[in-house]
Amino acid sequence: MTEPTTGPQGLNVQESLDFLREIVRRDTRSGVYGGRVVTRFPPEPNGFLHIGHAKSICINFGIARDFGGICHLRFDDTNPETEDMKYVESIMRDVRWLGFDWKDKLFFASDYYEQLYDLAVRLIKDAKAYVDSQSDEEIRKARGTITEPGIGSPYRSRPVAENLDLFSRMRAGDFPDGAHVLRAKIDMASRNMKMRDPLLYRIRHATHYRRGDAWCIYPMYDFAHPLSDAIEGITHSICTLEFENNRAIYDWLVDNLFREPRPRQYEFARLNLDYTVMSKRKLLQLVEEKLVSGWDDPRMPTIAGMRRRGYTPEGIRLFASRIGVDKANSRVSMDLLEDAIRDDLNARAPRAMAVLRPLKVTITNWPDDRVEWLQVPSWPRDIGKEGSRKVPLTREVRIERTDFSVDPPADWRRMRPGGEARLMGAYFIRCDEVLRDPSSGKVTELLCSYDPESLGAPAKGERKKTTAIQWVSASHAIPAEVRLYDRLFTVADPENMEEGRSFKEFLAPASMEVVREALVEPALAEPPPGDRFQFVRHGYFIVDEVDSRPGAPVFNRIVGLKDKYRPAGSAVKPADRS
Ligand code: ATP
Ligand code: MG
Repeated sequence: MTEPTTGPQGLNVQESLDFLREIVRRDTRSGVYGGRVVTRFPPEPNGFLHIGHAKSICINFGIARDFGGICHLRFDDTNPETEDMKYVESIMRDVRWLGFDWKDKLFFASDYYEQLYDLAVRLIKDAKAYVDSQSDEEIRKARGTITEPGIGSPYRSRPVAENLDLFSRMRAGDFPDGAHVLRAKIDMASRNMKMRDPLLYRIRHATHYRRGDAWCIYPMYDFAHPLSDAIEGITHSICTLEFENNRAIYDWLVDNLFREPRPRQYEFARLNLDYTVMSKRKLLQLVEEKLVSGWDDPRMPTIAGMRRRGYTPEGIRLFASRIGVDKANSRVSMDLLEDAIRDDLNARAPRAMAVLRPLKVTITNWPDDRVEWLQVPSWPRDIGKEGSRKVPLTREVRIERTDFSVDPPADWRRMRPGGEARLMGAYFIRCDEVLRDPSSGKVTELLCSYDPESLGAPAKGERKKTTAIQWVSASHAIPAEVRLYDRLFTVADPENMEEGRSFKEFLAPASMEVVREALVEPALAEPPPGDRFQFVRHGYFIVDEVDSRPGAPVFNRIVGLKDKYRPAGSAVKPADRS
């Protein structure tokens, strides 16, 4: 991804092209496609999109944008059993949300079934395809191995007329599932196993979510995909590396059935992200077995989950542009994704105060009924944004339990017995006395005194060694629910653990922690769902779109802050540990 097209120093994008853009530029210069650039994003509507798809979307739509072309959205819907309109809808929503537009180029492979059937008939007539009546098992056995050639089917030399008759009767519904298949007649001894007479059509008496019962034969992906590309006039068909061996079938089919200039397939490395799984089949299991709350569970690597979690489309696109386009498969650390999200949120999320584990503080020299409304800036100076809100200070406040230590380490900068710290945006207070529960010994309250001269005054002497702490007024604070998310899995690569062990065995036991005693400042009493804030030192949060209510806000932690900003010994579990 190149975003923006012209870099900050006016660096010409042409100087730093990835290998795919090199190819596209070569083709636009040579004019093979008359200057046209047509890419496509071809999901199968059998699940929600995940962050790996986001990479593919950014590449395909990004290349079209950079070269003045267009990217089609095509649903590769050739499996009646698993596909559904609800997935089509979620995919369209997610692509749009990511910021891409397919204009009027929305297609479905299932709209091409007639054309695809006719193309198959042409192959049969050219003696390049035949109906095989072996069982699946026999076909598999006869395919051979990497070192041994396959064995030709006894039906391989069926006469064209017989093939045509059988194929039309397959379509007419004369046979049960599995009775016959249509195969390409290529080379049973090919070193590329994929070229040993690949299957093109199978019988499946099943209802398709768009075509209903109109068809009982369905094209295989390897047949439908290249021919759909050719039908649509795609120029560059970009897919992931595991399809490298399928390229030979792609070329064989398109060469046999279409004229130049025809589409060509190029492969890039799929995204593998640590501590999560990226197969739709596995994500579906998590949803169906209720191991997560749904496709949009904020812990899911789905676009819908990330949207609810509070990730921004800009942050995800930034991540995609940072990981770039690669030809070798590798794993990407979660830190890379979280860094991109943080970098995007830093200038987007105003600061606010929230106390997740409150500790009672009484300011003994503050009058009982006095409320002072302080104007507190919502942005740190380095962001350069204007904006502030009013925060009430009263005699009784709450601070974060982890901002106080009875026996602090040498470099402690926050509250301690006898020590001072500034209430953020307000006065310095000194801890005069620590009250404890007599039976448990647990600290229950701090009795403090404030320095009336310290408001807005620069810190001097010992005070310079301290840091401002968050607080809320006990009488004005709003109770809130705060949800802290951690990694869904305990191991980096849950899909590739020991033989025979399921990825589900590595689900983290506590990947979501719900904090119910949290308090937020009164400006956040009725925050609009979807609004994002940085709760100082706790990280970035979003007002949950589903469960938040006026007066009873619910906040999801999007991502924690970098370690250096995090309080030592914080009870709050960092989301971005590595
Ligand atoms: P499944 O998980 O069932 O194998 P899939 O993730 O391949 O499915 P598709 O709907 O076939 O899902 O994918 C649509 C497009 O997204 C394909 O072009 C595919 O190459 C690309 N894609 C899928 N997963 C990734 C990934 N992890 N990284 C990059 N691109 C991906
Ligand atoms: Mg796939």
